[in-house]
Amino acid sequence: MNKNLLPYGCTWLVLLGLLVTACQRQPVATAVMPPSTKATAPELPVEKGVSEALAVARKQNVSGVAYNLSLTVPPRKTEPIDVIELVSFNLRDNRTPLQLDFKAPTEHLHSLTVNGQTVTIDHRNEHLVLPASALKPGRNVAEIRLIAGEQSLNRNDDYLYTLLVPDRARTVFQVFDQPNLKATFKLALTVPASWQAVANAPVRDSTLSGATKQYTFATSDSISTYLFSFAAGKFSRLSRTLNGRAMSFLHRETDPAKLRLSLDPIFQLHADALAFMEQYTGIKYPFQKFDFTAIPDFQYGGMEHVGAIDYKASTLFLDEGATRDQVLARANLVSHETAHMWFGDLVTMQWFNDVWMKEVFANFMADKITQVSVKNASYDLKFVIDHYPAAYGIDRTAGANSIRQPLANLQDAGSLYGNIIYHKAPIMMRQLERLMGPEAFQAGLREYLKTYAHGNATWPDLIAILDARTPADLQAWNQVWVNQPGRPVFSYRISGGHDQRYGIYVTQTAEDGSDRLWPQEFDVLVESASGEKQQVTVKMDDQEKGTRIAFLPKRVVFNVTGIGYGVFPVAPELPATVTQLESPVARAATYVNLYENMLNGPAITPRALLEAYRPALIREPEELNLKLLTGQVSAIFWQFLSPAQRLAMGPALEKDLWAAMLKNPAPNARKLLFKTYQSVALTKTAQDRLYRIWQTETAPTGVKLTEDDYTALALALAVRDYPAPASAPILPAQLARIKNPDRRQRLQYLMPALAPDVATRDAFFASLHDKAGRAKEAWVTAALGYLHHPLRQASSEKYLPASLDLLQEIQLTGDIFFPYSWLQATLGSYQTPTAAATVRTFLAAHPDYNPQLRAKLLQASDDLFRAEKLVR
Ligand SMILES: [Zn+2]
Repeated sequence: MNKNLLPYGCTWLVLLGLLVTACQRQPVATAVMPPSTKATAPELPVEKGVSEALAVARKQNVSGVAYNLSLTVPPRKTEPIDVIELVSFNLRDNRTPLQLDFKAPTEHLHSLTVNGQTVTIDHRNEHLVLPASALKPGRNVAEIRLIAGEQSLNRNDDYLYTLLVPDRARTVFQVFDQPNLKATFKLALTVPASWQAVANAPVRDSTLSGATKQYTFATSDSISTYLFSFAAGKFSRLSRTLNGRAMSFLHRETDPAKLRLSLDPIFQLHADALAFMEQYTGIKYPFQKFDFTAIPDFQYGGMEHVGAIDYKASTLFLDEGATRDQVLARANLVSHETAHMWFGDLVTMQWFNDVWMKEVFANFMADKITQVSVKNASYDLKFVIDHYPAAYGIDRTAGANSIRQPLANLQDAGSLYGNIIYHKAPIMMRQLERLMGPEAFQAGLREYLKTYAHGNATWPDLIAILDARTPADLQAWNQVWVNQPGRPVFSYRISGGHDQRYGIYVTQTAEDGSDRLWPQEFDVLVESASGEKQQVTVKMDDQEKGTRIAFLPKRVVFNVTGIGYGVFPVAPELPATVTQLESPVARAATYVNLYENMLNGPAITPRALLEAYRPALIREPEELNLKLLTGQVSAIFWQFLSPAQRLAMGPALEKDLWAAMLKNPAPNARKLLFKTYQSVALTKTAQDRLYRIWQTETAPTGVKLTEDDYTALALALAVRDYPAPASAPILPAQLARIKNPDRRQRLQYLMPALAPDVATRDAFFASLHDKAGRAKEAWVTAALGYLHHPLRQASSEKYLPASLDLLQEIQLTGDIFFPYSWLQATLGSYQTPTAAATVRTFLAAHPDYNPQLRAKLLQASDDLFRAEKLVR
C-alpha cells in the first residue's frame, strides 16, 4: 500500500493502521482537493529525482498537460540537438513555485518565458523551477529553448531513438515526469533528408528542404511521459495491412534470408496478438496507429511505446538455424508488447510502485496469446521451470520482499525490480484466475480497463473490482499474496476406511511461523497399491482442507500440475521414482519440490537427493527438465556436500554423467550433461579427459562446442590448477586462440582472478576497490565466481569482510542488479560456519543499514546459513 497515493481522507486511517476497503476503492483520479482559498500550501523542497510528495502535489494542482516539441537533429551525433518546447497546463493554485523535471546540465537551458513573460532560469537539483509570480490559475504556457539532454537519446551515426522508462523523459526535456500526469505530445522532427522517422502519432506532413527533412506528427493520444518515444535514422520502412489494420515496420536488417523468413511472421504475430487482445478485453485497439521498429542492440527485448513499439532486432529476425526456444521467445515478446497497449498504456499505474502490474498482465496475456499462435508451446512446463525456482530462491529467505513495495522517489524505481516481480507475480496471477474462474476474472479485467481507460489505476483499484465478482475474500487474499513476502508449508493425513470412503486432509502453515494462509488451488495424484490412479484438486481456502478420494492411497504426489505455491510433502520413495511420473510437468514440479524439501531438511539429506538423481540423469527424457535437474545436481554437489563427501561421491557421479551424455539422443541435452560433468569434475581421470578435449578441440560425439565453450572449459581446468604448475598454463594458450577483441579482453580480465598464486589473486581483489576495476559488471561477477570457487575458498574467505564493506559503494556506482549479483557471486558457494559468522558480524555491526541492501544480503546468504545445518 502506498499511502501517499491514497485519497487524502484516507491517509490518516493508513497512518493509524486502520485502512479500510472503502478507502482503497476510490480511484485517486476522483480524489481532488477542494480549491484552497485560505492558507498557501507549503512550498515543496526542490529535491533530486521525482519524490512521491512532489508527484502527489502536482497531480492535485496540474491538469490538461500538453507538450509541443520541435527538435532539430543534425547529421553528426556529436552536434547538439536544439529544442523548442512549449508546455501548456491548467493550474489550480498559483501561489507556490512549480517544478518541472529536467535532469541535464543547466547550460543546456537557453531561455524561458512563462505566459509570454521572460523569466530568469532557476534550475537546481534536477528541476526547472517556475516562479509563482509568473503563474496564474487556469491555463499557463511555458516556452523553453534548450539543448536536449543526451543521456537517453541513444545517438548513433545514422540513427537515434529514445528510451525513457521509468523516469528518463526528464533527462531529455522539461516534463512533469510521473505516470499519472498523462499528456498529449505534438512533435516536429527535423532530420537529415535521407532519414525515416516514427513517433507515437501518425506523420501529418513531411517536407524536404535542401539537406534536411521535417516530419510533423499529429497530436498524440494522451499518454504517460515514460511512453513518449521517437526513432529516426536510416531505416527501411515496410507497410502492410492485416485484418483491416495498417502497420508500418522500420528496420535496418540487410540479410536476405532473415528478411525472407521473418517478415511474414513478424506482421502476423502482431495481427494475431491485436485480434486476441481486442477479443479478450472487448476493447478495440485504443490508439491512433500501430507501428513497430527493430533496433540493433536495443537495451531490452522490447518497449511498449504507444503506437510505436521498439524491439531488439536480433529477437525479431531469425534465420534457418533458429531454435524452438527462439521462435517461442519471439512470439512471446511480440504478444507481451502488444498486450501492453491495453495493460500499461491504456490503463497506467498511478505510481511506479505498481510497475509489476503492467508486467505481470503483459506476461499473462502473452502466455495466452502464444498458446494460440504457436503450436505445442509447452506452456505449463515452461511456467514451472521459469518461475518457481526463481521465486522460491528469494521467497524462502529472511530477506524476501513483497510483490508490491513502497517507492518514495522515482529515481529509485530500479530497486523494485527483481525475481519476486518477475517470477512470483505471474504465479500469484494464475492463482487469482483459478480462484475466480477464467470468465469472472476476464469480466473483471474488462471492467477495470473500461473504467480507467486513458487514465491511471492502482492495484487496490483492480482488486476492488475483482472482489465484487467473487465470493472469496480478495482483500485478505491480496494481503498475504501481494503485500507480504513468504510462502506456506503443507502437510497431510489420510482419513476414513469405514464403508470404503477415504479423504485426504491437507494443512498449511506459514514458513515463518506466523498464522497466515495462502488461499490457492493445486492438484494431487493418489495411487493405490493395485496401481489405480486418481487426480484431485485441493481448494485450499482454509488452514486444513479435506478432499474425498476413491481409495486408500499407497502414494501421494503433490502439485502434479505445477500451479501450487509452497513447500509440499514428499513421499519417502519419491526421489527414487520421480522419473516414473508420466507428465513432464509433474516431474518438473516434483524436482522443484524435492529440492525445497532438502533445503528445509531433515527428511531428505543432500547426499540422499544426489544419490536419487543419479539414475534420473539417464532416465529424464525432457530437455527442459534435464536443465532443471543438472542445475540442482551442481548446486547440491558444491554447496551442500562437504569436501570429503564430494571426494567420495564424485567418481560415481562423473561416470553417470558421462554415460547419460553418451546415451542421450538430443544434442542440446548432451551438451547440458557435458557441462555438468565439467562443473563437478574432481578426479584425475575426468580432468585428463577434459584437458584432452580442450587441447585437441575435439568435442565428445554429438556435442557441439563453440569458442566460448572452450574458454569456459579452460577456466574450469584453471580453477582446478590443471595442468600441474610446472606445465604450460592453460589460460594464456586459450587467449592465444581467441581473435575477437571483446572476448580477448574478457579473458584477460578474468585471468588474474584464476591465477595459481595467491598474491596475484589478492591483487585482483584489491583492484575491485576502485570503481574502474568494476566497470564491466558481468566480468566482475564471473571473476568473483572463480575467485570464490569452493576449491579456492581456503585462501579467499579472507576477502569476505571487505566485500561486504564495499556493498554500499557498489550500489551507488553500479547498475540496479549489481549489488545482488555481487553478493551472490561472492557468498553463493560458501558453506563454512566462519563465513556465516562473517555475515552475522557484519549485520550486527550495521543495525541501521540500508534496508534494501540488508534484504539483498540476507537473500544472497540464505544457502550459506542453510549449509551450516545441512553439511555434515
Ligand atoms: Zn513489459
